[in-house]
Amino acid sequence: MNDGKICVSVCAETADEFIENIKRAAEFADIIELRFDCLNKDEFNCLNLENIEPVLNKILDHDYEKPLILTFRPKEQGGKHLISNEERNVFWYSGYDSHWGDFEEDIVENSWDWLWDTRIASFHDLSGVPENLDKIYKRLKTTGVDVIKIAIQAGDVCDSIPIWKLLERANFENKKFIPIAMGASGVWTRILGLAHGALMTYAALDEGKETADGQLTAKDLIETYRVKELNANTEIYGIIGGNLSYTLSPFIHNAAFKFHDLNAVYIPFEVRNLDDFFKNFLKEVRLNFKGFSVTIPHKQAIIEYLDEVDETAKAIGAVNTVKIENGKLIGLNTDAEGFVEPLKKAHGNLNGAKVAVFGAGGAARACVYALKKERAEVTIFARGVKKVESLAKEFGVKATEIADRDRRIADFDIIVNATPLGTKGALENETILTAEQLRGAKLIYDLVYNPMETRLMREAKRANVPTIGGIEMLLAQGAKQFEIWTQKSAPIEKMKRTALSKLQKF
Ligand code: NAP
Repeated sequence: MNDGKICVSVCAETADEFIENIKRAAEFADIIELRFDCLNKDEFNCLNLENIEPVLNKILDHDYEKPLILTFRPKEQGGKHLISNEERNVFWYSGYDSHWGDFEEDIVENSWDWLWDTRIASFHDLSGVPENLDKIYKRLKTTGVDVIKIAIQAGDVCDSIPIWKLLERANFENKKFIPIAMGASGVWTRILGLAHGALMTYAALDEGKETADGQLTAKDLIETYRVKELNANTEIYGIIGGNLSYTLSPFIHNAAFKFHDLNAVYIPFEVRNLDDFFKNFLKEVRLNFKGFSVTIPHKQAIIEYLDEVDETAKAIGAVNTVKIENGKLIGLNTDAEGFVEPLKKAHGNLNGAKVAVFGAGGAARACVYALKKERAEVTIFARGVKKVESLAKEFGVKATEIADRDRRIADFDIIVNATPLGTKGALENETILTAEQLRGAKLIYDLVYNPMETRLMREAKRANVPTIGGIEMLLAQGAKQFEIWTQKSAPIEKMKRTALSKLQKF
């Protein structure tokens, strides 16, 4: 256990809603932030002390059994509404003592030390990382407050390096500090901060009710990432990818770490610039990194940064797993095995099976490699004659321009979708083939796992063709990664239950 606190940030439009949410937050929180700037301005006239007091009294006059932080943030500093300086002054002089107060830098000088249990001086940059972060820290320190909080916006994981360095400095200076890198690329700071000396990490009460970009729910911080149990020796694993908003891997792997009671955590690292990640992030942020999963768009590009690549990953030309051993980065690929295992379970021996693989990216390459090993007859359907021809040559299989699918598709027993068509979002209603085109096939295997039932799978149902969904491969390749990293058997049923329950909420 570390000493850090989970602060659940509560935002509500009315006093009654506030009270209800604070009571719910108390279940997870060590401390609760009340974002009074969320109150509906029609009910909460901040220019009028007589109007403010009954609302605040109504909210605060309960024993919530947890300390409270009062916050009243103007929009330009991350608050909900436009609030004038006059309104801010009236609010803060309304005199609510014995709580914590979070004061933005421009008003902290006017806050009275003796009135508050603990004063936080906070700085927010919603647009990026200010160059003079050290100076800002120094300025906030000179205000004499109890706690300094600095939140910056990270567009890439490397943007969060300076805030992590500040945490190291604050630890050295014995100053209570809350570092936050907002945005998806900064999520790791919210997960690992407590284990490395941050005073607290902020969390949302419910999904969809985040009060800042990149905030996780308190339930996920506690149950999935076990943030209060982590320490400086915790082994760090994670997924490196371009957009990880729908990844299930943290839930699957953390469930497995928890099952085996390992001092390990698996974190999403949203990386735009791979070069920066290897040359700066891994060098500057000295954590106990042990391994990574790799996903779109880095599976091929990552190879040049690794010390070793195993034979399977080399033959596929893509790495989805990195293991760090004695400081060496070793690239492997579990996609091929993860793909073929559920297929063999559903279809049996693949020797001589006629398989059409749609797509020519990293996943398709792993599928073709695995199918060839099983002696299946493979044809790739992909866009662009040149790409199709070079892939056919590289793997020694047949390949066809995707536009010719109508003419050719009746020849196949098994059809694999290794394109993103059907994925939640803009492509959700798309499919590589319709029911009419699928008639006569024996099995459809869609690698897309979110949604669980894709358009292609629905088309297959209409054509009475059995299907395998992408979740099967996701679990199988993830289980193999877990075994490579930990040398322990993957608790596959536990991983599956966790993935399915999360998928239903996405
Ligand atoms: P990738 O490297 O980006 O390759 C995607 C492939 O799909 C490319 O060949 C691309 O063609 C093709 N494509 C994209 N849009 C298309 C369209 N509208 N029509 C036809 N072809 C299209 O991605 P990947 O890593 O191979 O992954 C592919 C899919 O498999 C993703 O949805 C991924 O989530 C899924 N996947 C699932 C698992 C699992 O465990 N279930 C594992 C790996 C991947 P161009 O090159 O011409 O754009």
